[in-house]
Amino acid sequence: MSKERIYLFDTTLRDGQQTPGVDFSVEDKIAIAQMLDDLGIDYVEGGYPGANPTDSEFFAKKRTTRSQFVAFGMTKRAGVSASNDPGLAALIQAKSDAICFVAKSWDYHVRVALGTTNEENLESIRASVTATQGAGKVAMVDCEHFFDGYKANPEYALSCVKTAYEAGSRWIVLCDTNGGTQPEEVRRIVSTVIASGVPGDHLGIHAHNDTGQAVANSLAAIEAGARQIQGTLNGIGERCGNANLITIIPTLMLKPVYADRFEVGITPERLAGLSKLSHAFDELLNRAPDSQAPYVGTSAFATKAGIHASAILKDPQTYEHVAPEAVGNERRLMVSDQGGKSNFLVELRRRGIQIDKDDPRLDSLIAQVKEREAQGYAYEGADASFELLARRVLGSVPEFFKVDSFRCMVERRFDANGNIKTVSEAVVRVTIDGETRLSVAEGQGPVNALDIALRKDLGKYQTEIADMSLTDYKVRILNGGTDAITRVLIESFDSTGERWWTVGVSDNVIDASFQALMDSIIYKLVKNREAIRLAG
Ligand SMILES: [Zn+2]
Repeated sequence: MSKERIYLFDTTLRDGQQTPGVDFSVEDKIAIAQMLDDLGIDYVEGGYPGANPTDSEFFAKKRTTRSQFVAFGMTKRAGVSASNDPGLAALIQAKSDAICFVAKSWDYHVRVALGTTNEENLESIRASVTATQGAGKVAMVDCEHFFDGYKANPEYALSCVKTAYEAGSRWIVLCDTNGGTQPEEVRRIVSTVIASGVPGDHLGIHAHNDTGQAVANSLAAIEAGARQIQGTLNGIGERCGNANLITIIPTLMLKPVYADRFEVGITPERLAGLSKLSHAFDELLNRAPDSQAPYVGTSAFATKAGIHASAILKDPQTYEHVAPEAVGNERRLMVSDQGGKSNFLVELRRRGIQIDKDDPRLDSLIAQVKEREAQGYAYEGADASFELLARRVLGSVPEFFKVDSFRCMVERRFDANGNIKTVSEAVVRVTIDGETRLSVAEGQGPVNALDIALRKDLGKYQTEIADMSLTDYKVRILNGGTDAITRVLIESFDSTGERWWTVGVSDNVIDASFQALMDSIIYKLVKNREAIRLAG
């Protein structure tokens, strides 16, 4: 039985750009379009050509090879002909395969926001679609506020969809612009649109996540008969985000309820690169990946409790809803004070550390982990610190260098212009092969100054650590007050693409940070030696 095709349409470059804190450069947009093209997304929408210099430059060239490259913009203005509308002309001139028009489908918005009549709005839709086809491009229409518009005036909302369809629009996309529609309403309204004569293989869904159901609403529309889904990478978007394609894609491809009926333009090989793609996208946004993200988060296939851990080893399917490898993720059994011996053995083996289950050093390691976790260390979030602790217990970590002392100074003063200025400086004294070195550095805050000073002169190790950088820093106060215990977690990254977390705990935040920084550097040195050992 042949399967029905579901088309995927990405709006990361427009909806994603609305995310607080996100601002794409032309280079970012080119890199993201490339990622989407490689993945096998059918339509990559690039934003509004002519809206600003970034988007004009981006649309100067077609940016995809396999995916259809889509420009987004308004339907023609009321009162001018399609050939006399400069906005429409700019859209048609953009180097895109298709144009996706945003059209009002709620009569309230037509009146208040556009200030035109219902009939003029329909004429704008009709003329814009016709002009696009005349230029040899594919036309699509996003019906903005469709579901709210339908609830207010079903006849008018439907007439917008029908007008676009009859004019020859390839897709008419029903948008839940405010994001408040429920899956049951989406299912019912999409069914009504299809029953009115617009076929489902011309209908798309554009869901926002304001009630946490953008993915559910997208799937509800598919169940009702729509065949195109719009969404973004990692669900970014304004307010609570858009439908997350990184969740929708594996659901469509791996869940029999969809996979038996439908196919998408993504191969299983590309699906196996999904976790990497999701993390690379976060890296581009300079933010830490969500560890609990469905399918692709580092915790998505992680298990903590001891009884589950041993059962997982016997039969992974009893505890996992899909195979982690299918999405390029991996099974993780976390070490923690709740874990039994089997957790530890599996985790050590995964890190290339062989130890017999009856080896007394294993009991010693478990005892140390439990004791340190009681003090506030959290090894399940600091895999590199755990590996170092294990290797130390086994006696395989050399003393690369010794930090004799460090000192941090923070000064807050007025500068020559009378503005408040905060200056941080750190001094670190290190001994390497009997030789003492003193490094001084200024930084953005005391931890940054300490990091720079520590890594400024590590003698013969200096070139080895040159490619590492710190990407995230988290501070957690474990019990109240300024004399509380502080836990610091640091994420580091190097040119191999590996990320690792280290932990430090102290009643002093600088000291806790220093421990985590030291672990990170030593882990990097150990890892370099392991890589050489495995290669040789
Ligand atoms: Zn949107």
